[in-house]
Amino acid sequence: LFMFGGALGIICISLYRMIMRRKMSLHSLVEQGLAKQEFVPYYQPIVDVSSNSLYGCEMLARWQRPGQDVISPMEFIPYVEKSGQILPITEQLIEKAIYEIGKLNWQMTKQIISINVVPDQLESLDVLEKSLNLLQHSEITPDQIAFEVTERKQFTDLTMASDVIEQLRIQGIGVKLDDAGTGYGGFSYIQQLNIRSLKIDKMFVENIGTADIKLSLLDSIIAFGKEAGMEMIAEGVETEEQSQYLAEQGVYLQQGYFFGKPMIFKDFAYFCKSMASQ
Ligand code: C2E
Ligand code: CA
Ligand code: CA
Ligand code: CA
Repeated sequence: LFMFGGALGIICISLYRMIMRRKMSLHSLVEQGLAKQEFVPYYQPIVDVSSNSLYGCEMLARWQRPGQDVISPMEFIPYVEKSGQILPITEQLIEKAIYEIGKLNWQMTKQIISINVVPDQLESLDVLEKSLNLLQHSEITPDQIAFEVTERKQFTDLTMASDVIEQLRIQGIGVKLDDAGTGYGGFSYIQQLNIRSLKIDKMFVENIGTADIKLSLLDSIIAFGKEAGMEMIAEGVETEEQSQYLAEQGVYLQQGYFFGKPMIFKDFAYFCKSMASQ
């Protein structure tokens, strides 16, 4: 247990109690969760406000232990990233998501499901191969999948990553730079990895309507994105004011509680239906 001391610092009390009670390591708790298929995808809508239509969704991980509260990814993703268990977890999530989203008839409308990956996962062809395999039995096409990679974490091998991203692109799978403006890589990643889509972090969006210095950062990110002809998606949109401001700046792809929280498939399917009938 103490081997994981560093990571334990950030996990939630309930998870910690469970570990103590069962005298299990977090590592084996995650293993058990994997075996019992406890990692489940939630879906948060991404809306195109210029046409009031659905662009697609972001898949967000949740850990659902039977009879317990849902555990947020903030509690376990940092740990499983270090332990390497993020790889089988992502696989489990993608498999479930492709199966579920496959039921939505998206082939007619070309919506996109955007999947979070860590930089490591873009330094190998594994996630590409596994996704393509899963897609063979699905109505979803590769161009309806995208990967989001955060610029908060560093790549170890940018040359490798840019090769993998090129392979993804050949298959039609897009890559989005997540948390754009908050981390290391920023514009150098965009250039070296030939990234064409930005997810503007909620840290910037939440300053709309204030006089905070971050608002001018938001404006410069948007100006850069426009100049470079990039697709831009703003996350963390909670109010009509934020949504309008972004739309006035030309950022029409928006995601946030204003439209819908991350939800289980059944609720997301209902959300899609009600948007389509508007
Ligand atoms: P992220 O990729 O930046 O995802 C956006 C986070 O903002 C999500 O938190 C989402 O629920 C939350 N959010 C969305 N709209 C709003 C809003 O209007 N207001 C506020 N206050 N929050 C909003 P969540 O689901 O807790 O995920 C946290 C982070 O965990 C994600 O941040 C992502 O970095 C990571 N994560 C989640 N699932 C996965 C996964 O499958 N793989 C990896 N590698 N990371 C994941
Ligand atoms: Ca994301
Ligand atoms: Ca790496
Ligand atoms: Ca973010």
